[in-house]
Amino acid sequence: MSRHGNDWVTRWDETPHRDAVKLDDKPWFHGKITREEAEQLLEPWVTGSFLVRESTHYPGDYTLCVCTDNRVEHYRVIKDHQRKLTIDEEVFFDSLPELVAHYTEDADGLVSRLITPVNKAGGDGYSKQFEKAGWSIDRKLITSGRVIGRGNFGEVRKGTYMGKDVAIKVTKDDKIQAQSFLSEASIMTQLRHDNLVQLIGVSPGTSIWIVLEFMSKGNLLDYLRSRGRTVIRQLDQINFSLHIACGMNYLEERKFVHRDLAARNILVSEEDVAKVSDFGLAQHDREKAEKSKIPVKWTAPEAVRKKTYSTKSDVWSYGILLWELYSFGRVPYPRVPADDVIKFVEDGNRMQPPDDCPDTVYDVMNRCWKLQPEKRPTFRQIESRVMELRRLLKEEQRGMESAS
Ligand code: ADP
Repeated sequence: MSRHGNDWVTRWDETPHRDAVKLDDKPWFHGKITREEAEQLLEPWVTGSFLVRESTHYPGDYTLCVCTDNRVEHYRVIKDHQRKLTIDEEVFFDSLPELVAHYTEDADGLVSRLITPVNKAGGDGYSKQFEKAGWSIDRKLITSGRVIGRGNFGEVRKGTYMGKDVAIKVTKDDKIQAQSFLSEASIMTQLRHDNLVQLIGVSPGTSIWIVLEFMSKGNLLDYLRSRGRTVIRQLDQINFSLHIACGMNYLEERKFVHRDLAARNILVSEEDVAKVSDFGLAQHDREKAEKSKIPVKWTAPEAVRKKTYSTKSDVWSYGILLWELYSFGRVPYPRVPADDVIKFVEDGNRMQPPDDCPDTVYDVMNRCWKLQPEKRPTFRQIESRVMELRRLLKEEQRGMESAS
């Protein structure tokens, strides 16, 4: 594997004062403020805007303040003797973010569902956190060029920074979006590996720019579809499988769950190195998902049903990704509608191997698709198995060359 691209990234490691950024997961928590101060902060009392404060009357408890019809409702959040949090003594939570996530999905007895958090530092507070950790880039040093892709938050452009090609993700100007957009970048500040797309920096402004290492060959799905079996060889396929397993093994060691592993979220460098990208949904292990749009054909059954994601659900998705890789970018479960996929696999059915897929690789896929998560291999095991398969393939090819 060429180290060309990474030499440059390594230089960033040596930049002083670049700490991991861990964004505050309770930006709407204002600590000890009074009822009157809370009501002022919530003005103009738009339905669904909310914040949480410490209770003034019941020390140790919290108060959830929610606006509706031009008034503010103050709910006492009780911490019970098991240190669980509850408003109605029916539903209990381990933490304030979990409580907020619950009432964001459903009002469940409150005057309104929680819609707009009123944050203590506002949108700009997040950019400041990147600046303090040393990740801020002066916009004047970046040249922005043509659009090379579109994502959930806006466009992706090719650009240059300090004489090198970079990719720039540009947000639309929207505070709420900016927060989740930056939460992806904050995850990236905590990760560094040859097979993960590297964050170079964040450039704050009314529209925030996230600067990433440039992956000239674009996403793996387009790569597979545009080149097909005439260009892509078995050795390329096994190389990509190995790169992705290495990147995922690194995430597994750090207990990061990606939750959206798929060929569309793998990028390919000039030197044909595959790197995992799109950490928008990545979370520390075992967190419950809040997002409702689930890519069902890539997601493990237990993650679809119970919304419990883990490294083992990433392993399931890795199996699907292998299938995409060996079918040159076909959509998984070709004849099964997305709504029927979970029943299909729970009934014991699995996808057929793609044409010409080696049995050994199909065997790895099937191991990833065990219904019981604990029966699936770890990424460390997958990495060594795929490495072995690559060695065997190379040996076989050498044997064929010398025979001819
Ligand atoms: P989102 O996460 O918002 O959906 P993506 O990260 O998937 O956005 O980016 C959309 C597209 O932009 C990708 O499929 C890819 O084609 C292109 N792209 C994204 N990041 C890079 C990069 N670092 N280098 C080159 N192209 C990129």
